[in-house]
Amino acid sequence: MSPMTVHQLPRPRKTPTGRRLHVVPAPMPRPEPMHPAERRMRDAGGPDDRACYSCGCGFVFLAPVSTSVHCPHCDAGQAW
Ligand SMILES: [Zn+2]
Repeated sequence: MSPMTVHQLPRPRKTPTGRRLHVVPAPMPRPEPMHPAERRMRDAGGPDDRACYSCGCGFVFLAPVSTSVHCPHCDAGQAW
């Protein structure tokens, strides 16, 4: 009885980390400082004429531009 010899072909080693796809993700596009649509909507927003008033009492508020604007804090008439 001859010992069974198994001839094994040397297997080519396959390393799983042989090839690695070098994929670089594209950089995210920076958001625009102001959306054109938003600006357009603002332009066509109609009578949105509001001004920032700063009362003498120190209260700062937004009010529609009109001849009679009163401070909601001290009710003082604001001149514009
Ligand atoms: Zn005031």
